Order: sequence, then C-alpha cells, then structure tokens
Amino acid sequence: MVLGELSGGIVRALANMSNATIVDQKVVTGCLDEISRALMQADVSMDLLKIKVLLNRSQNISFHFLLQRYTGKPSFTPEKGKPSVIMFVGLQGSGKTTSCIKYAYYHKKKGFKPAIVCADTFRAGAFDQLKQGATKAMIPFFGSYEESDPVKVALEGVETFKKENFDLIIVDTSGRHQQEASLFEEMRQLAEATKPDLVIFVMDSSIGQSAFDQAQAFNRSVSVGAVIITKTEGAAKGGGALSAVAATKSPVIFLGTGERMDDFEIFDVKPFVSRLLG
Ligand code: GDP
Repeated sequence: MVLGELSGGIVRALANMSNATIVDQKVVTGCLDEISRALMQADVSMDLLKIKVLLNRSQNISFHFLLQRYTGKPSFTPEKGKPSVIMFVGLQGSGKTTSCIKYAYYHKKKGFKPAIVCADTFRAGAFDQLKQGATKAMIPFFGSYEESDPVKVALEGVETFKKENFDLIIVDTSGRHQQEASLFEEMRQLAEATKPDLVIFVMDSSIGQSAFDQAQAFNRSVSVGAVIITKTEGAAKGGGALSAVAATKSPVIFLGTGERMDDFEIFDVKPFVSRLLG
C-alpha cells in the first residue's frame, strides 16, 4: 500500500464516522479500528514511532471532529432585562419540572428575574410539585387547580409575568408515559400560543436506544433549540445524549446530576468527547 492509499483509508474512516446519524462509542471505536487497520496494512516502511504519531493525529482529528459536532449554540440564549419565554418539553418522569426549577434557580443566581408557569393540567399533583420546588427556590410561580386547558393557563401565566417585568418566563408542560399524538398536539398548541424564544427538550439519560426517536418526535411538533439530560450522576453519559443532539440538531446545554436544585451543571463537551474516545 502506498502512502496515498493509506491516507485514503484514514480519510474514508473519518468520512464514515461523519456520515453516521448517531455517533456513539461503537461508531468511534469502528473508525479508530479502521484507521489502525489501514496503518497495519501499510506497506511503507514505518517505524513504530511514526505509526504512533499517525494514530495520535487520527485521534486528534476525531477529537476535533466530534468536538465540532457537539459544540453548538442553542437557538436562543436569554439575556438579563429582556423578557424571554422558555418552554420545557419531555415525557413524564424525564425530570422536566425538576429541571425547570434548576434552570430558574441557576439563572436567578446569575441575576435574572425568573418565574415559572405550570401548564401541566394533565397530571394531578403537577402544580403542587412545582409550587413546592419553586417556593423552596424562592421563584414566583403561576398555575391553576380549576382550569383544565393548558393553553389558557400558559397564556395567562406568561402574560401576567410579562406585565410584572420578569425576564425569564419558564413554561413547564405536561408529559405522558409514552409518546402520544395528544401530547405532541398539546405541545404544538402551547408553542403557538406562548411563542417561546427557546424550547428545551428534557431527557432522562437512561432511556437508551429510544432517545433518537423520542427527541425527533418532540422536534417535529415544536422546534427544539436545546437539550437537557437528567440523572447523569454516576451513569455512563453517552449514547442517549448524542442521539438527542443528532435528532434535534441542538446542543446539550445542561446536565442534571441529582435531585437537589443545585445539582445542575453546564454541559462541557470536551470531557464528554474525551470519554467517548476512551
Ligand atoms: P417530570 O415528570 O418530567 O416533570 O419529572 P420530575 O421533575 O417530576 O422528575 C421525576 C423524578 O426524577 C423526580 O423524583 C426527580 O426528583 C427525579 N430527578 C429529576 N432530575 C434528576 C437528576 O438529575 N438526578 C436524579 N437522581 N433524579 C432526578
């Protein structure tokens, strides 16, 4: 094999990785294996040191490629003093309400004036749960025990907080145990009514293979602009997060790392990609 073929093999391996819809551990390992194979088969006389240098370079290229793929700006970033509406979507139990409170609390510490609207009229107890968490974080909240139309509650809440000059109005929405047409229609209507500046998709890190499908389904009804992955403490962070990014073409912005309101970290792509490359 001449050098041209060798570099062709390496380029092909990298191209295969960049063409994959979901880049997970398997795809990355496959790419590196292919590069190693091309190097082994190389008929050029290369000493071990040179092979190591080439492998290192391939690792670096892979690193930069993955970094680029998973570094991205959310479709909107809130600014202090400018009113914005942020809508949270996700299945029931994904950690949506918890993440709304964490997100509000995080921004409050940064000097924002956040408030949360409970547009979950589907699950009994949803408003009480939000009320309890928001009170603990000292974040104003809005909701209703009587009104069953989530759009009405959301609109009233958003309008009320806009009038009161809150700059970060967070809308917590209802979920379902499974992906259901009625849920996606509700999300579409809520987005149409409240016109969010950013829709955040909340996903449980443990959902595995169904992550791509789930993220894509939400993204079809509302335009997702950022992703939050919850329950990442201790778990192997990986596949699911990558699938959600691929499906929504939106970056992960925060990780939930526990049940307390400050168990919330800004997503840092470098250690994540390093771990992926093993
Ligand atoms: P929702 O139905 O999507 O609103 O989900 P909840 O916010 O009610 O969360 C469901 C459960 O997951 C609750 O018991 C939360 O305390 C828990 N939870 C949420 N985020 C995290 C997290 O990052 N780590 C852990 N360990 N638990 C979490």
